[in-house]
Amino acid sequence: MSTAEELVTWTHEQKCQKAVEALGLNGFSAIYCPTPRDAFEYIVNEAADARSVGFGGSMTIAGLGVEACLREQGKEILNHGNYSLSIEERLAIMRRQLTCDLFLCGCNALTLNGELVNIDATGNRAAAMFFGPAKVIVVAGRNKLVDGTPQDAIRRVKAWASPPNAKRLNFNTPCARTGFCSNCNSPDRICRVTTVIDRKPRMTDLRVLVVNEDLGF
Ligand code: SF4
Repeated sequence: MSTAEELVTWTHEQKCQKAVEALGLNGFSAIYCPTPRDAFEYIVNEAADARSVGFGGSMTIAGLGVEACLREQGKEILNHGNYSLSIEERLAIMRRQLTCDLFLCGCNALTLNGELVNIDATGNRAAAMFFGPAKVIVVAGRNKLVDGTPQDAIRRVKAWASPPNAKRLNFNTPCARTGFCSNCNSPDRICRVTTVIDRKPRMTDLRVLVVNEDLGF
């Protein structure tokens, strides 16, 4: 690693650690992960007792490669992201995710004050994050950190997460064509459910891994 890269990594680490500390003060179990490999190992270890594992449609989680590992271990994998499935089959998986043993998902934005901010089209991921699964692990890459309020975090999501997501999913929205949010009223609008989790939900074992690498968008 060059000196410049080391300094950039160090600077990101300070921000990641600040978010971890704030999350802890807000009641979450928060862990700093220097690399995605650390997040992978944490998740596989925490999944030891889980029979069913739900996936919240996250590029971050997909990038970690945990699904193949957990599938090999014989876990029931609940991933609705297979577009060869019918809509009824995908909805059935989403409902099963709400009562799975372990739910894995990314986070659209994480403030340095320890607030998780997400925007969904269907709301299944956001719902499973705060109630239902026995255990939830949220993984946030350093690119999701926002030094600001939840409103600043929402702006981050609509600037950097929703446009590429709309394009990835081939939705007919203005942002999928231009890369900019125009607060559309499109039938395909993906910004429909906005959640701010500012304290650990009382009945949910919610952990947050903050990774010192860009993950997802
Ligand atoms: S409100 Fe519409 S244009 Fe803006 S990010 Fe969401 S889907 Fe895209």
